[in-house]
Amino acid sequence: MGEVHCTRCGVKGGALEAPPTGGPLGQLILNNICRDCWHEWQEMSARIIAHYGLNMGNPLHRQQLREVMADFLQLPQGRKSDAQ
Ligand SMILES: [Zn+2]
Repeated sequence: MGEVHCTRCGVKGGALEAPPTGGPLGQLILNNICRDCWHEWQEMSARIIAHYGLNMGNPLHRQQLREVMADFLQLPQGRKSDAQ
């Protein structure tokens, strides 16, 4: 099991076992976010989706959720080109 220096909580923690999503964004999360913080985001995202009535079939809604996630997880910036 790998370890990662998490950009969100600032300490070393257990890494995810696999990228949680495809493409560069998944790699970014895998390399920068610990498992605990990812689980926090999963709970948070479920609440956000329910609260705002987001439809994950809608690309605009997916993009909005992605932006909230980048903010919540404090992902390294400058990766806007990943969004598609
Ligand atoms: Zn963390």
